[in-house]
Amino acid sequence: MVTLPSPRRAIEWALFFTIAAVPGCWDGRQMRHDEPPAGAVVGVVQRVDDGDTVTLRDGRRVRYVGIDTPESGEPFNKLATAENRRLVGGKKIECRQSGPDATDRYGRYLGIVKVVHATELAERNVNAALVRAGLASVYIAAADSLGEGDLATLLEAQHEALRGRRGFWKERLFRVAQLREPLVATRFRIHLKSCEEVRSHRTLPIQLVEAELQAGKSFCKRCQPSGKTHE
Ligand SMILES: [Zn+2]
Repeated sequence: MVTLPSPRRAIEWALFFTIAAVPGCWDGRQMRHDEPPAGAVVGVVQRVDDGDTVTLRDGRRVRYVGIDTPESGEPFNKLATAENRRLVGGKKIECRQSGPDATDRYGRYLGIVKVVHATELAERNVNAALVRAGLASVYIAAADSLGEGDLATLLEAQHEALRGRRGFWKERLFRVAQLREPLVATRFRIHLKSCEEVRSHRTLPIQLVEAELQAGKSFCKRCQPSGKTHE
């Protein structure tokens, strides 16, 4: 014998299936996907220190791995800090280790950062979002300092930023184009030929700066080929 549900029961069931169909609302896979990976640092951001560093409520500090944002006093420092604050300020974040080191020499946790309950795409990889906006450059400290997949994601974001001359890139690339001194490359950096840091290193001449940046090299902070950043 088949019994038809009462109209009220039918509405309840319809409501149940509607809720269950909304992704992330009643979705076991989505919930599991949001669980932090083992060893991840999770906490609420108490203070945004600058474009690539935050302090959590429990006092732990997190440094975004693989990127570098302008220092205090440099152009775009305030914009990078403001964008970082917009993305993570007061929110619960997760810092996932990418390279071999969990912390840097200052005891800051190194990793790829995401907002735990992200509402926009940029919050799912804050490191990449800052690079994509032209407010951070890809910065490789040493070989294997971050995972291959993470590096590829960051370089892809930087490719977009370079192509669109976003953020500081317009100014930096313009300054480099005005240089009379040749540029040379070491494994991870782009230098002025006269830089003291390259005297004892093997160097290669650079033809296309953008191609070198795209390969993961970044401007040397000592000789600053893209312009003196401190007045
Ligand atoms: Zn240099």
